[in-house]
Amino acid sequence: MCLICDLKARGDATASATVEPVARPGHVWNARRGFLLAAGAAAATPVLAQVDVGQSSALRNLVPAEQLESAANQQYGQMMAEAKAKGALAPAGDPQVQRLRNIARRLIPHAAPWNDRARRWQWEVNLIRSNQINAFCMPGGKIAFYTGILEKLQLNDDEAAMIMGHEMAHALREHARERVAKTNATGMGLSIAAQLLGLGQLGDVAANLGTQLLSLKYSRDDETEADLVGLELAARSAYLPRASVTLWQKMAAAGGGAGPGFLSTHPSGPNRIRELEANLPKVQHLYEQARRG
Ligand SMILES: [Zn+2]
Repeated sequence: MCLICDLKARGDATASATVEPVARPGHVWNARRGFLLAAGAAAATPVLAQVDVGQSSALRNLVPAEQLESAANQQYGQMMAEAKAKGALAPAGDPQVQRLRNIARRLIPHAAPWNDRARRWQWEVNLIRSNQINAFCMPGGKIAFYTGILEKLQLNDDEAAMIMGHEMAHALREHARERVAKTNATGMGLSIAAQLLGLGQLGDVAANLGTQLLSLKYSRDDETEADLVGLELAARSAYLPRASVTLWQKMAAAGGGAGPGFLSTHPSGPNRIRELEANLPKVQHLYEQARRG
C-alpha cells in the first residue's frame, strides 16, 4: 500500500486528515521563544497519519539536523568498526541480518511522510552479537539490533518489525535532536545554542554530539510517540498490529532481569500496552490494505 494509492482511495488529502496537529504541553520553551521562532517552525504530522502524535518540538531546531546526522554517522561507523574488530558484528550472510534487512526494506518506504529528510538518508541495518536486550536507530537512519533482543524475547518478524518501527520513529520524529538541544541549552545557556546554529565556534560542540547520542535517554512522551508512529509504519508494511502488544508483554516480562538496555533508555509508562491496544483499530485497515496489496 503506498501513500499515493491511499490518497486516491480517500479522494482528497486535506479532507482525509484525521489528525489536527496539537502542540504538546511543556514543549515550547517560553523564555526562549523568540529564539526558537527564529530557529524555524515545527514540523507537522503527515496529513494521512492515523495515529495522533501532534507536532514535533520546536526546541529541536536549536541543533542543525545535518550536523547531528553527520555526528551520528561517524559514531555509528566507529561502533560497527569496534564490533567488527571484536568479532561481534554479524556478517551480511547471517540469516538474522538478512531477516532484519528484509524488515527494514518493507518499513523504509513508509518513513518519508514523517520526515522529509529521510528520503536522503543512507539507511543501514546491522546486528551486534551481545546479550543486551537493545536496539537503536540513530539520526540519519543508522539501525542496530543486539542478538539479545532477538533471542531473549524470541521475537517473530512482526514483533521485530515493531521494534524497528519504534526505533525508526525516534529518528524520524527527531527525539535525539530534541534531547541534545535540551541538554545543551539548559546546561550551558544560549551561547551553545548559538554555536549550534553556526553563530560561533563549532568545533567542540560538534565533536561532543556523537558522544551525547550514546548516553541518550528518551522521555515517556517520546516513547508514546515512537510506539504509535512505529505501529503505523509497521501496519503500512503489512506487519500485524497486535504484535506491538505481544512485544511489550515480552519486554515487560524480561524487564526485571534485563539489566541496562532497552528499558533503561526507553522508559515504559504504566499505560504503554493499554495505549497501543487503543490504537490498534486506527491502523488495522492499513494492515489489511497492505496485506492485500
Ligand atoms: Zn523508545
